[in-house]
Amino acid sequence: EINVKGLVKRFGQNVVLNGIDLSLKPGERVAIIGPSGTGKSTLLRCLNFLDRPDEGRITLGDLSVDVARAGKQDILALRRRTSFVFQNYALFANKNARQNITEGLTVVRGWTREKADARAEQILAQIGLADRGDSYPAAMSGGQQQRVGIGRAMALDADLMLFDEPTSALDPEWVGEVLDLIRRIADGRQTMLIVTHEMQFAREIADRIIFMDGGRIVEQGPPDQIFGNAKDDRTRAFLRRVG
Ligand code: ATP
Ligand code: MG
Repeated sequence: EINVKGLVKRFGQNVVLNGIDLSLKPGERVAIIGPSGTGKSTLLRCLNFLDRPDEGRITLGDLSVDVARAGKQDILALRRRTSFVFQNYALFANKNARQNITEGLTVVRGWTREKADARAEQILAQIGLADRGDSYPAAMSGGQQQRVGIGRAMALDADLMLFDEPTSALDPEWVGEVLDLIRRIADGRQTMLIVTHEMQFAREIADRIIFMDGGRIVEQGPPDQIFGNAKDDRTRAFLRRVG
């Protein structure tokens, strides 16, 4: 069980998250949609302390953190239970695909090189790059790079996977293969929060859709309800614009 209570994030005077309450059941796949600048990325980043939230509580299983008081150990513990897939892949340019996947395992998890390499081989096969472990990011397509970005997150075997617009930086020709990979992860009932502007995809893989606007969750529900019968005017206006 994952629970977020009263999460607040300010950048100076700008209140970007204005009291977010959110729960996910194990295996639940939740998609977040909403206008630009609404705090979607900030919410994901705060869950992982890539941005430091100002107020609220984050609970992941038996770990419960008052974010205002969180110390190094709390932050490390949260990061161990979450993984993050970035819009722009954020691969290490000077490491090959295998090393990008093993970095978190050896540095954060303290795995031996042997164990991490064995895991990387499994992951490379799962992401369809079994023969590309030695390739550096510059030699790979955008789709391949993002599959490595996703593989790196998969390798961590986290309680919660966070995806921030994983296809929006891709040339259209690479979007399909990346969505296919995420679909497979979702089919495995990995608990995930995915920010996406791919409405059809969200509808297909998510158990629940959250619509955010102005730093708040405006409305949430099963895909059929949000896409077919949204209650809030802001949700309907947004869906008309993007649909
Ligand atoms: P998009 O759909 O464009 O990705 P978003 O919903 O992900 O938008 P965020 O990136 O979370 O929105 O940004 C929310 C607000 O927080 C914006 O007003 C943005 O300018 C502000 N913001 C985000 N990061 C920072 C930062 N590091 N410093 C200052 N302001 C920030
Ligand atoms: Mg964003």
